[in-house]
Amino acid sequence: MATGEPDQPVAGSHPTNGAAEPVLTRPIGLLAELTHRCPLGCPYCSNPLALDPRDRELDSQTWARVFGEAVALGVLQVHLSGGEPGARRDLVEITAAAHSSGLYTNLITSAVGITASTLVHRANIDRVAAMVELAIGLDASRVEIAHVQYYGWALLNRDALMPNAEQVARAVRAVEELRRLHHGKIVIDAVLPDYYARFPKPCVGGWGRRSLNVTPSGKVLPCHAAEIIPDLEFWRVQDHSLAEIWANSPAFQAFRGTAWMQEPCRSCARREIDHGGCRCQAFMLTGNAAAADPVCHLSPRHADVVALAARQHDVPYSFRTNPRKSDSGAAVR
Ligand code: SF4
Ligand code: SF4
Repeated sequence: MATGEPDQPVAGSHPTNGAAEPVLTRPIGLLAELTHRCPLGCPYCSNPLALDPRDRELDSQTWARVFGEAVALGVLQVHLSGGEPGARRDLVEITAAAHSSGLYTNLITSAVGITASTLVHRANIDRVAAMVELAIGLDASRVEIAHVQYYGWALLNRDALMPNAEQVARAVRAVEELRRLHHGKIVIDAVLPDYYARFPKPCVGGWGRRSLNVTPSGKVLPCHAAEIIPDLEFWRVQDHSLAEIWANSPAFQAFRGTAWMQEPCRSCARREIDHGGCRCQAFMLTGNAAAADPVCHLSPRHADVVALAARQHDVPYSFRTNPRKSDSGAAVR
């Protein structure tokens, strides 16, 4: 089945632990990574350590086809991302193709010359109120207080970026007060940073359930960071339709549903709510991508996360070194 109706069993899946059959739902979101090129070098960048070079980026015609296939698959919204999507000279053409295919488009930019954005870490977490004031000043109707996610390059800077427990508690109180103060004026989205949460985030809405991610060179990932998990086989838009990839790609099948789960997730009442948390985080912190995300207080490895959250070192940031320009394929660092 190529495009598939929601909640249909996935062909070829064989649960072995008595868990419910994995179901094939429709994706609603597509993260389109147009390029890994970027003028900035943020220490909290979650892009992979090895970036796709410019000459392997998908061209605009291929993106237009992918957008059409995404709509046929049920996708409603595309996030045009990077790197810095503004580094693509054909960004207008790509955006127009996404729009005319019927997708709601959302440009995720480094903000250079376009707009402002905020990301919270130890050095700025005490300025949440100023961030909200800035958003109100810009006439924003919504602001997200997003914490650094320790993936990709950001993992290298974890100790330098990690807020301490007192800062996190202060920020929670500040957000509550700001919501009360600005009720009706602006919506403030904020969640606890991963390492301080009691339960993990339902990462990407569940693996292979709600979203997919196309890299600059055309690999389709169930999650932005999925390439760190060894032995996953990713299919490419150059070789398969998006519908084929969604339904049958080995990487998407790997953690779809609940059959792959181990204890404590396997018998947990929340297994259909948070889907065991983030597979990439489970792998990064335990070495086992099928383990419970150790952010969860029920994980046998949760003490490791508590110890990491308590580790702050005021060392200089390691700034991202991005390829500047590469028509040859060799990343210039
Ligand atoms: S370097 Fe900064 S702006 Fe550029 S992709 Fe990474 S996080 Fe985004
Ligand atoms: S044990 Fe697993 S399913 Fe249950 S809350 Fe923790 S991560 Fe989620």
